[in-house]
Amino acid sequence: MLSFIFISICLIVAALGIALLSKIQRLKESADKIATLNLSLEEMDEQAKLIMRTDMELNKAQEELDKKISSLDTLQKLSREINTTLEEKQIFKKINNKHLEALGFERSLAFLWKSLEREFRLYLCLGYGEEDPAKIETAVNANKDFFLDLIHNRSTASSEFAPENFLSQDKVRQLFLTQSFIICPVLTQEGDQGFIFVGTQDIDAAITKGDQEFISILANQIGQTLDNARLFEKTWKSQQELEIKVEERTRQLTQALEEVKKISRRKSDFISSVSHELRTPLTSIKGYAAILLTGKLGALPDEIKTRLEKINRHSDELIQMINDLLDISRIESGKVDMKITSQDLKSVVDKIADLLSEQLKIKDITFSMNIADNCQNILAARGQIERVFINLIGNALKFTPQNGKISVTANRVNNTIQIDVKDTGFGIPQDDQEHIFEEFYRVDNTINQEVKGTGLGLTLVKHIIEAHQGKIWVNSKPGEGSTFSFTLKVAE
Ligand code: ADP
Repeated sequence: MLSFIFISICLIVAALGIALLSKIQRLKESADKIATLNLSLEEMDEQAKLIMRTDMELNKAQEELDKKISSLDTLQKLSREINTTLEEKQIFKKINNKHLEALGFERSLAFLWKSLEREFRLYLCLGYGEEDPAKIETAVNANKDFFLDLIHNRSTASSEFAPENFLSQDKVRQLFLTQSFIICPVLTQEGDQGFIFVGTQDIDAAITKGDQEFISILANQIGQTLDNARLFEKTWKSQQELEIKVEERTRQLTQALEEVKKISRRKSDFISSVSHELRTPLTSIKGYAAILLTGKLGALPDEIKTRLEKINRHSDELIQMINDLLDISRIESGKVDMKITSQDLKSVVDKIADLLSEQLKIKDITFSMNIADNCQNILAARGQIERVFINLIGNALKFTPQNGKISVTANRVNNTIQIDVKDTGFGIPQDDQEHIFEEFYRVDNTINQEVKGTGLGLTLVKHIIEAHQGKIWVNSKPGEGSTFSFTLKVAE
């Protein structure tokens, strides 16, 4: 019995031991799990901290980015406004407190160097009290060499960085009455120009590299606009000067033209009255010579007869010359009443060819005429246009040697008729061509030495054509011939 009890107790103890062991085992396992969980929790905590840190950094970066975008936007707007300004003073008036605020500053100054006066002049002052600008200007000029050096070396100074040989940051703070600042040179093509100052009273405001870059972009923009403004001013000034010169010259020319017109009128009047005065005695000289030549007043010895014939011939030439001069001055002064009507061009040329046929025959010159169908009718004063053809064909005849050719052609050129009188004569040297329409001008050649002439024919022709609102010109080559061309209006 006892042994049974003992065995039972042993069994119970063994069973309890096994149960205890398994509990201990489970407890150990739980402790392991708890330890692992603790580790994970710590890791998670670390990660949460990291996430928070990153988030903060991201927020900061975002803020900085926003600030940069806003600054860039302000700069862009400001650049656009400044760019359209063409006056030095107006450039700085475009910069205002709002722009400054957007760039993160509340004070700004702009100084330009006046080389003649050898001093800096204040062009912009924002964010200061009433009496500050004058004080600061005086202080800047008292230290002008430092600022000139800064501009010359193209250096930027700030409350974070002071270039070598420049004023200490504290001195700058004192001078500009501002805590944090940037000073940036404004440079132009003509050379050193000035500087801009921006600043804030916020001691904690750190001047970043980005801030410096933005201010130097603004300074560059101001420099370029100053260049543009100067260029515009120069161009504008020279344009004004040119306009004044042109006005003055026009006034002088108008005066000169009036003078020339007056002289020309006086000349015409003079020629006209002298010609009249000459014509009367000349006509009677010619009349007496003609009477004497008829022999009605008695027979004349041959010698006297020859002289009288000469007097008669020369009188004719003189009368012709006087008539031409009178006509020129009359046409010039508009005293000739040009009865311009429709004329049959062919009949005009035929008449003149007929008049000159004898001389054409003597020189064996072939005369031809070619008038285009649409040029049959011209607008002209009949008598005057006949004189044009007599002179031009007469000259062609005079200056064309034996067996030559003379032609008259007419063609439509736009709304006018161009008539060409062409010959195969001696031609006219280039230098003489521009003078032959002048009064009394005759080319110095053998024919002119032999054949008489007045040098008035072409002048008269030119006046007549111009009175018809036409133009006349010549094309000629010595040894090959000449073509006199003129225009007349078409009679529809
Ligand atoms: P004139 O014939 O009386 O000398 P014009 O005024 O008619 O005066 O002509 C001026 C000059 O132009 C002439 O002297 C002559 O030298 C030159 N000239 C005119 N027509 C011709 C021509 N067809 N060929 C060569 N020379 C010409």
